[in-house]
Amino acid sequence: MSMSCKKILVVGAGLSGAVVAREMAEKGHQVTVIDKRNHVAGNAYDFVNEYGIRVHQYGPHLFHTSNDKVVAWLSRFTEWLPYQHKVKALLADGRHVTLPVNKETSELVGKENVLDIFFRPYTQKMWGVELEDLDPTIRQRVPIRDDLNELYFPNDTFQALPKAGYTQMVKNILDHERIQVQLSVAYDKRMNTEHDWVFNAMPIDEYFDFKHGPLPYRSIKFHTTTVPIPKVLPTATVNFTHSEPFTRTTEWQLLPGHGKNPAYTTLTTEEPCDYKDNHMERYYPVKDSGGENLARYRRYEAEPKGNVTFIGRCGLYAYLDMHQAVSSALSISQGFQKVSPF
Ligand SMILES: Cc1cc2nc3c(=O)[nH]c(=O)nc-3n(C[C@H](O)[C@H](O)[C@H](O)COP(=O)(O)OP(=O)(O)OC[C@H]3O[C@@H](n4cnc5c(N)ncnc54)[C@H](O)[C@@H]3O)c2cc1C
Repeated sequence: MSMSCKKILVVGAGLSGAVVAREMAEKGHQVTVIDKRNHVAGNAYDFVNEYGIRVHQYGPHLFHTSNDKVVAWLSRFTEWLPYQHKVKALLADGRHVTLPVNKETSELVGKENVLDIFFRPYTQKMWGVELEDLDPTIRQRVPIRDDLNELYFPNDTFQALPKAGYTQMVKNILDHERIQVQLSVAYDKRMNTEHDWVFNAMPIDEYFDFKHGPLPYRSIKFHTTTVPIPKVLPTATVNFTHSEPFTRTTEWQLLPGHGKNPAYTTLTTEEPCDYKDNHMERYYPVKDSGGENLARYRRYEAEPKGNVTFIGRCGLYAYLDMHQAVSSALSISQGFQKVSPF
């Protein structure tokens, strides 16, 4: 091994870990990527089921960004199918209306009812709290529009799905002679001494044995079913406004490149819950209005970390969309290369 070729461990084969691994391998380092799951791609993992339909195991992943650098980087590893996501909300009377609420939707339900129909029940289900208790930045996330635009992501310049799926895209990122991937392998602290540097996407509170207390997350139970009907929903995703615990259903075949079964269709319905009620599956960091969770994260962030850099959603305790995860991983690895101790 040359002086400049170091042993790097990447914990987590999700997008964040895959991007860091690739950047490090291209710099000449020898990289091992481990994941405790039996697949790569983290929460963006998708697969084709026995009906020939592509399903995203951890809920619908729509790629949308205005970050050209991220698009250029990922485009080395995938072709794209253009796709602009549209969502309908199902009202109590059976009508479907456009979501996020636009001019047409607010006129149909009455502007004064928008908060109670769309936001209040969603907040209770998604975050397990009342609308008023929510961090204002989350409240601002789904704006009410004063036009007839029907797009779920109206402002992003690039909206597409990887042609052969997210799993294949991540496999392509990891396909490098200096990257070795080991699945179904959980991180162990002894690995720090066996490597020159560790990039770690595991939950930061777990790494430090919860010494400052646990960082809470919301999770989702996914209920997937296949029915002998060619098509069920008016759009790929339909959100619910009722008070049942379910937030939305996605019909996979309505996304481009997700199969064309003429007789069957597969649907996934989401039921949000606390992560403790879902095998500690951590999906969304909880932003409490008092900011206590962030303050707790800062205490973990300030801990001495030796040869470990935390990356990704759970390492940074931040809700990162895929383009943000890629952008953050690129900054961390490129920044690291500048100040590298090697
Ligand atoms: C329900 C849901 C829907 C989403 N929808 C979208 C969307 O529409 N558009 C979008 O842009 N983004 C979406 N995202 C976000 C997207 O999933 C992430 O941005 C992306 O997956 C990058 O995540 P990551 O690599 O940082 O973490 P992850 O994907 O969580 O990967 C981290 C990996 O680390 C592994 N790991 C953890 N602990 C250990 C350990 N101790 N040892 C070994 N391995 C470990 C995990 O198994 C996991 O595979 C969604 C996320 C969720 C949860």
